[in-house]
Amino acid sequence: MTTANKIYYVPDDVKERAFIDRPTYHSMYYESVEDPEKFWGEHGKRLDWIEPYTKVKNTSFEYPNVSIKWFEDGVLNVSQNCVDRHLKTRPDQTAIIWEPDDPETPAKHITYKELHEEVCRFANVLLANGVKKGDTVTIYLPMIPEAAYAMLACARIGAIHSIVFAGFSAESLAGRIEDCASKVVITADEGLRGGKKVPLKKNVDTALNHAPVVEKVIVVRHTGGLDPEMVSNPGVDVDYSRAREEVADVCAPEEMNAEDPLFILYTSGSTGKPKGVLHTTGGYLVYASMTHQYVFDYHDGDVFWCTADVGWVTGHSYIVYGPLANGATTLMFEGVPSYPDASRFWQVVDKHKVNIFYTAPTAIRALMGAGDKFVEGTSRESLRLLGSVGEPINPEAWEWYYEKIGEERCPIVDTWWQTETGGILISPLPGATDLKAGSATLPFFGVQPALMDADGNILEGPATGNLVILDSWPGQMRTVFGDHERFVETYFSAYKGKYFTGDGCRRDGDDYYWITGRVDDVINVSGHRMGTAEVESALVAHPKVSEAAVVGYPHDLKGQGIYCYVTLMEGEESSDDLRVELRKWVREEIGPIASPDKIQFAPGLPKTRSGKIMRRILRKIAEDDFSNLGDTSTLADPGVVDDLVENRQHKA
Ligand code: ATP
Ligand code: MG
Repeated sequence: MTTANKIYYVPDDVKERAFIDRPTYHSMYYESVEDPEKFWGEHGKRLDWIEPYTKVKNTSFEYPNVSIKWFEDGVLNVSQNCVDRHLKTRPDQTAIIWEPDDPETPAKHITYKELHEEVCRFANVLLANGVKKGDTVTIYLPMIPEAAYAMLACARIGAIHSIVFAGFSAESLAGRIEDCASKVVITADEGLRGGKKVPLKKNVDTALNHAPVVEKVIVVRHTGGLDPEMVSNPGVDVDYSRAREEVADVCAPEEMNAEDPLFILYTSGSTGKPKGVLHTTGGYLVYASMTHQYVFDYHDGDVFWCTADVGWVTGHSYIVYGPLANGATTLMFEGVPSYPDASRFWQVVDKHKVNIFYTAPTAIRALMGAGDKFVEGTSRESLRLLGSVGEPINPEAWEWYYEKIGEERCPIVDTWWQTETGGILISPLPGATDLKAGSATLPFFGVQPALMDADGNILEGPATGNLVILDSWPGQMRTVFGDHERFVETYFSAYKGKYFTGDGCRRDGDDYYWITGRVDDVINVSGHRMGTAEVESALVAHPKVSEAAVVGYPHDLKGQGIYCYVTLMEGEESSDDLRVELRKWVREEIGPIASPDKIQFAPGLPKTRSGKIMRRILRKIAEDDFSNLGDTSTLADPGVVDDLVENRQHKA
């Protein structure tokens, strides 16, 4: 494609300011893989340890005896590292900026000193309600500061949190509560997103019918909209605002082993039933804080905004744990990018003078689709660096982000990682890495990616294959909660001795990595293997197309045909002429082999609640096998599926 080879060089001012320039990247990377023991032994010291570790790395990917331990005899506390240790140096610095859903509601600035008090009080409320070290606590909260307080409070007393995104239904919540047997659930009266109220407490009450393990529900007052129902279950419900007043404002952090669990988090469910990913204390925090500092080149005083929800791993590592461990100012946004209109992100950037902005391709594509007029009235001059995570970013969207949002001044870090990896594994470092639109570029320190062919051979040089990681890094998940066998089978059985990511990937002549999507999303058309992402990028590059999802379907002659679901830009009309035009466009962009067989215009695509396109559902519809769509509990809007089935192209 036209833009794929363009190189965006590191600007001089970025290079000068950065912690890591190119020679430093190469020498540190070399050290990190030559002698991980020494490298991580050194970098582990970025945290405060109650008992320093003497052992650094004790890991094995050998099937089936996979075992991962980092800093295994070290003792520390995550909340002490994220809060208490900053009290001496920056007590009055803002730790969290909270921007509410409604722009008219005042924002909050919470200092480290205030954060300390809030976390201690929350921890004491948990203790008073019987939570002990090693217990699991389910958190079902909107994006309010209490979500961060609750996470850090759990970490403070050694409880394992499991956050369930507040957009999930009562049934999904019940399943996750039961899976990790939480006796305590933390929720709010209501959430607020895009001006709409979300009945969180009511959902918890419904979930409790299917989750009898729950003994206490701690309810934070947020909207104040449900007053009488705050105590619908006497003896179970705890009014947090009252409980908070009744406890002390100090709470000693529990001494935790580096390998004690910190949290459980369920994956997005793009490819099947979500997995309860377990992360532990020491390695996770070392990795989250180090990637936050270097990938985002975070310097003291910067304002950092990650737009994810704390219900996803991105929110765990880059709203709460990484930034706070680094003494950063982190912005937490309650709302959505489109409310009150598609200018909101940029208005918030201007309002709080955000320097580093990290979001997902789904948001970038949606805002691009809404039109440039929503960008034009805003300044964005505080921005220095942009980031992307969650899906491959199409070059078209990358360029729009780079040109329109960053005004060609801000490098983009396209960060590839997974819930399982705890932190970013492949990404540019802004002061070190020249950029190519759509490439996640190079591995972070200690990360050894490799590409495999279907027969289990490692591919050298420029190649396309399945992405594996050859050795452990500190932020890696340790197990699937309660199902170690599923952990071993899912990640270590396909290629023995290696961590299999499930993603397909291409490496170019500069050793840059390009994630092509899920391995399942590779299609074979007349003997040519191609990633569906490539066809999608071509479609999105058309001026009338806002989003596209491409899947294969059985085709008599070609083996697999190319089925495209296309969402048009605001104000564009679908027509047969446009179908012909798009087909021609893709042939010109990629070649005749990629010519779409079917194009279905779709007002909406099925997405997970974290905004990822669920291609497995689209595949079923394209295959005319829509009676069994698999696990759809993580779909954001199940309604779009009916429309897609109704308008499928096979009937024609
Ligand atoms: P499940 O594992 O339940 O199917 P999921 O894989 O969507 O869900 P996450 O852990 O949230 O759950 O997402 C990780 C995946 O997201 C990666 O494996 C990759 O496919 C995709 N991804 C994340 N960041 C990027 C990126 N920068 N470029 C390309 N793909 C990305
Ligand atoms: Mg996954």
